[in-house]
Amino acid sequence: MKSTDVLIVGAGPFGLMLAIELGRRNIKASVIDKKPTTAFNPQANATQARTMEYFRRLGFAEEIRELGLPREYPTDIAYYTRFAMDELGRFELPSASDAAKRILSNSGSWTAAEAPHRVSQKFVERVLLKYAQQCASIDVSFSTELLEFEQSNDFVVASYKHQKSSSPKQIKAKFLIGADGAQSLVRRSLKKKLEGEFGKKRHFMGGRMYAVYLRCEDFYRVTKTKPAWMHWTFNQNRRAFMAAVDGLGEFAFHTQLSEQEQEDQITDDKAKRLFWEAVGVEIECQILSHMPWTAGHAAVSNSFIEGRVLIGGDAAHLFTPTGGLGYNTAVEDAVNLGWKIAHVIEGQASENLLQSYEHERRQTALRNTQYARKFADSIGNFIPHDDIESQNKAGIEQREIAGQYLVDHAKKEFNIPGITFGARYDGSPILPKNDVGEITDNANEYKQTPIPGGRAPHFWLSETKSIYDEFGFNWTLIRFRPISDSADTIIEESKNRGLDLKILNIENQKIKKFYDANLIVIRPDQIVAWRGNTSEGFDWDLLLGNLI
Ligand SMILES: Cc1cc2nc3c(=O)[nH]c(=O)nc-3n(C[C@H](O)[C@H](O)[C@H](O)COP(=O)(O)OP(=O)(O)OC[C@H]3O[C@@H](n4cnc5c(N)ncnc54)[C@H](O)[C@@H]3O)c2cc1C
Repeated sequence: MKSTDVLIVGAGPFGLMLAIELGRRNIKASVIDKKPTTAFNPQANATQARTMEYFRRLGFAEEIRELGLPREYPTDIAYYTRFAMDELGRFELPSASDAAKRILSNSGSWTAAEAPHRVSQKFVERVLLKYAQQCASIDVSFSTELLEFEQSNDFVVASYKHQKSSSPKQIKAKFLIGADGAQSLVRRSLKKKLEGEFGKKRHFMGGRMYAVYLRCEDFYRVTKTKPAWMHWTFNQNRRAFMAAVDGLGEFAFHTQLSEQEQEDQITDDKAKRLFWEAVGVEIECQILSHMPWTAGHAAVSNSFIEGRVLIGGDAAHLFTPTGGLGYNTAVEDAVNLGWKIAHVIEGQASENLLQSYEHERRQTALRNTQYARKFADSIGNFIPHDDIESQNKAGIEQREIAGQYLVDHAKKEFNIPGITFGARYDGSPILPKNDVGEITDNANEYKQTPIPGGRAPHFWLSETKSIYDEFGFNWTLIRFRPISDSADTIIEESKNRGLDLKILNIENQKIKKFYDANLIVIRPDQIVAWRGNTSEGFDWDLLLGNLI
C-alpha cells in the first residue's frame, strides 16, 4: 500500500494552496482530483488583496497579476439596463498596472503589500498547480477519485480509483484533508452538517442560476461605453452579471432562471439566447460551456475536524458569490492549516494544535458568508421598476434612481478592505488571553491593529519592500531598536523545539510606536501571535496548542 503524510482530496484552490504550504515545508503529500486537470471554467473572478499578499509570500503574486485581463484594462463595475442599451452607473476601479503602483503609496484602509486582482480562478489554479508540482515532496494525480476512507487512532486508509485502472487502490496517510468542494464526500462521510441558508430566493442572486461561458469579440463593438471588468443588467426579464475573462472577448456570464426556464432544456442555442437577452441585440458569439448552479447559500459546516480528517474550502463553507469570497476564504483556510499540520507531523506541536484550525477558520467562515449574504440581499432584492427601459421621462428618472442605488451598492461590495484584511481569531485557544481589545468589524473600512489574533500591521520598509517581505516563511520575532530585551529565552526555546524562527530587528520608530511593544512574535500565517516589552510571559506551548 502506498503511504504518505497527508492525502489531499481535491485540487481546487484550497487543495493546491495547502499542497504548496506543505511542500514548502518538505511535508510529503499526495493530491488527488477526479477531474482530468485544473478548472476549465473561469469560476471565481476576484482575487482579494489578502490572497494576493499570501501569493506574494510564496513568491508568485506578480505572476498572478500578469494573468487575466491586459495590464491596462480597467476593472470597473458597470450597470446597464442591457449591455448594449443604457448604462445606469459605474464604479471605476484601477487597472492591474495602476493598482500595483497605487498600493505603494496608499494609506488608511488600503495600507497593504498587494492590491486585489481581477483574474479568473482557472488561470490562478494553473499557477498553483505549477508551484505545487515544483515541490519535491508533493505529487498530484488527476482523474483519480476518492471512493471511501477509514480512520484509526494512528492513520487513515483511503480507497481511490484512477479513471484508467480497473480496480481501486489504497493509500495510507497520517491525515486526510477534504478539499473536495461543495458536494464533499469527505464532509458527508464524517457526517458533518452544513448549517445556514440554502438557495434563498431573491429577485436576483437567489435560487436557480445559469452559467454560460462564451467568446464574443463583438461585445466591445456593441456596448456604447468604455470596457468594464464586471457587467450587470438591471431590467424586468433578464438579470445577469458577466465578468470579462481575458479582456479580448472571453466572458463568464451568469443569469437568474425564471420559474418557466428548465435547466435540462438549455441547449447551446438557448444559452446564446439568454446572453442575447442580456445584451439587448443578437451578436455573433461562441458558447464554450454552460451549466446550472444555485445562489442563495450562506452555510458553514458544524465542524471542520474529526480525528485525523479535516475539511476546508467549499467542503466546509458555501457562499453566494457576491463579494467574491468563496475562493479567497478557501485560500486563507489553507494558509492557516498548512503550518499547523506541518508542525504536528514534524513533532513540534501536539495534535491539539489542529483544534485551533476549526476555531479560527469556522468563525471566519461564519463572518464571511454573512457578508456575502448581505451583498446578495442588497443587489438581489433591489427590483427594477416597470419603466426602467422606457424611453420617456419616467424611464429617465427610474434609470437615474437605479444608477445611484447600484453605484452606492458597488462601493460597498467591491471596496472591501475590512473583509479581506480584517478576519480575526479572537478567542482562539492559541492566543494570549491578556492582550485583547474591542475591534470593530466593518466591510469597507480596515484599521490595522497590533493586538494578537489579526493580520500583522503592514508597513513599507522602503519604496517597494514590504515588512512582510522580511518576515520568515515560518515564525518571525520582531525586535525593535534600541533592543532592551534580546529575547534569548524565546530564541533558545525555538531552537530546542526545532522551530524555524527568523529574527527581524527594526529601527523604524513609527512602526515601533504602532506595534506598541518592544517584541512581537508573528505566526507563519502573518498573524500577530504575541507581543510584549520583555520576553517574560511568552510561552511557545500556548502558541503551539500544547495547552489546549
Ligand atoms: C459563478 C461563481 C462565481 C464565483 N465567483 C467567486 C469570486 O469572484 N470569488 C471567490 O472567492 N469565489 C467565487 N466563487 C466560489 C469559488 O469558485 C469556490 O469557492 C472555490 O472554487 C472553492 O475552492 P475549493 O478548492 O474549496 O473547491 P473546488 O474548487 O470546488 O475544488 C474541489 C475539487 O475537488 C474535486 N473532487 C470532488 N470530489 C472528489 C472525489 N471524491 N475525489 C477526488 N476529487 C474530488 C473536484 O473535482 C474539484 O476539483 C464563485 C463560484 C461560482 C459558482
